[in-house]
Amino acid sequence: MQKIFLLLCILAVYPNNLKSWFLTASALPHNFCPHSRLAYRQGQLAPDKNSGEPPCQIPNFSSCLGINGVSQKMPRQNPQIALEYLMEGNRRFTADLSTHPNRAVERRQETAGLQEPFAVILGCADSRVSPEIIFDQGIGDLFVVRVAGNVMGPITLDSIEYAALYLHSTLIMVLGHENCGAVSAVLQGNTKDIENVANLIQPAIEESKHQKGDRLENAIRDNVKNVVKDLSKTPVLSKLIAEKKIKIVGGYYNFHSGEVELL
Ligand SMILES: [Zn+2]
Repeated sequence: MQKIFLLLCILAVYPNNLKSWFLTASALPHNFCPHSRLAYRQGQLAPDKNSGEPPCQIPNFSSCLGINGVSQKMPRQNPQIALEYLMEGNRRFTADLSTHPNRAVERRQETAGLQEPFAVILGCADSRVSPEIIFDQGIGDLFVVRVAGNVMGPITLDSIEYAALYLHSTLIMVLGHENCGAVSAVLQGNTKDIENVANLIQPAIEESKHQKGDRLENAIRDNVKNVVKDLSKTPVLSKLIAEKKIKIVGGYYNFHSGEVELL
C-alpha cells in the first residue's frame, strides 16, 4: 500500500519526467527527438516520402530536446545541422506542439556567463514574428537582430558579424514575413517617416514591378533575397562562407499556417 502511495506521489510531482521517460522508451530511433516522436505517434508528422523513415531525424544529434523548458544542447557542429534544428522547431510550432525548451532556471544559470546561440535571425520588428516563438527556442539559442523590413545597415551588420565571429553561430537566417508593413508602405510610396528603411527596401520594389503574382508578396520575398545576397558579399561573412563555417539563408513566414518557407 505504501509503495502504491509513493508511486502516486511521484506521478503527481514529476509528470514531465515520466512523460519524457515514456517518449524516450519508444521503439523509434534513439536520435529521434521526443517532441517529433510525439507528433509522429499522433499522426501529425508523416514519414519521410522517400525513405519511409520517421521525419526530422538529426544526424549527430548530441542530446534529446528538453520538454517543458528543460535544457537542451545546441547543434552548432555545422550550418546544415543548425538549419535542420531550427526548421524542426518551426514544424513543432506549426503543429501546435511547441515544447518551449531552455526556459527553466537551470538554463538561465548555465547561460549567465556564456552565450552560444546556434543561429542568427535578422528579422522584421513586427510584433507577430518573434523568432523564439515561431522556431520554438529558448534562452541563449538565437541571436536575434530585428528591424522594420529586416534590412541590412551598418549597425545590423556589426551585430551579425559579432555573432558569427565571436559567438560562432553557424547559421544566419534573413526572415521576412507575409503582409510586411514596411515593404507595403514603400510599395505604396508612403516613405515620409521611414526614409532610411525605405531606401534599403526600394530595390525589391523595383524588381517586383514586372513580376507575375501578388506584387507585395513578390517584393517581400525579393527583399529577403537581396539582404541574403548583400550579407553574403560582405568581407567578413563571405570569408566565413568560403571556409564553410557559416551559411546564410532566407525565410518567409506565413501568418496563417505559422510555417517558415525557405527561399
Ligand atoms: Zn515586417
